[in-house]
Amino acid sequence: MTRIAFIGLGNMGGGMAANQAKAGHEVAAFDLSAQALEKAAGAGCKPAASVAEAVKDADAVITMLPAGPHVRQVYAEQVFPNAPKSALLIDCSTIDVESACAVAAQAKAQGFRFADAPVSGGTAAAEAGTLAFMVGCDEADFPAVESAIAPMSRITIRAGDHGAGQAAKICNNMVLGISMIGVCEAFALAEKLGLEGERFFEIASKSSGQCWSLTSYCPWPGPVPTAPSNRGYEGGFATAMMLKDLKLAQDAAAKAGASTPLGAAAEGLYALFDRLGGGGKDFSAILELLRGKAPQAS
Ligand code: NAD
Repeated sequence: MTRIAFIGLGNMGGGMAANQAKAGHEVAAFDLSAQALEKAAGAGCKPAASVAEAVKDADAVITMLPAGPHVRQVYAEQVFPNAPKSALLIDCSTIDVESACAVAAQAKAQGFRFADAPVSGGTAAAEAGTLAFMVGCDEADFPAVESAIAPMSRITIRAGDHGAGQAAKICNNMVLGISMIGVCEAFALAEKLGLEGERFFEIASKSSGQCWSLTSYCPWPGPVPTAPSNRGYEGGFATAMMLKDLKLAQDAAAKAGASTPLGAAAEGLYALFDRLGGGGKDFSAILELLRGKAPQAS
């Protein structure tokens, strides 16, 4: 049995911590939200009064926090001063590459092993323990990271050294944001041309237009029953989250001197959809904007 400290028990972290407890580990859990802590206690975790208390005897510390500033603060002020040096530190939040590298460097300087390990897959995968992890860490530390992640994961791939996990996550989600807009534009054009959505899906899904946004997450209601388009674009992966990831990609591209014009256009469109009130809808609801409609109220 491993002693795990789990910090950040929100939409994603709640299910992930529960899977660690289900796997028989002792999970000391902490979140600023009393409600999230209570839920974790109901799922077999042991609520802690602070990050310091949660990490003090940990073999592994796992964090699932909103953004870079939260991760920097929690590690600098609470994890590093209180966790044993032997603890393996794994941050699963989606954050900027710079913050991931800065926290990794501080961890290393203090004698800790650290990995950035962001995830692909939403809350359903977090609950089912079927997330895909992309890991940035020292090569020698990867087997320990993979084993600590196993109860939450369907697949774990080492992307490279520190920061590479976040780089992979940002690039992957830029592909996803762009491809979803492409699929939505095609459905909007098909409609104007008098082509039935279902018919267009049948053809494109078997032609060179085939991609994940079309065949697994179709924005046009009907062809893919599990897609959020069939439930008013509720649940799924929120537009505001996609916008956050596209902003991270644009910041990274500016710093690295990469040309990502379609990524920039995707960020602009998602920012507009967010401003019009679509931030809480699944990101495939951008179809509404491209059909000339304002987002419908939830
Ligand atoms: P969330 O807002 O539901 O959860 C974050 C939790 O962190 C909250 O419960 C909050 O109270 C807690 N928190 C914030 N500061 C804290 C602190 N100092 N100490 C302890 N707890 C603190 O967010 P989420 O949807 O669970 O996402 C978490 C991360 O996972 C984000 O980086 C997000 O981009 C990423 N992600 C989310 C999804 C998704 O579908 N929701 C998918 C992949 C990746």
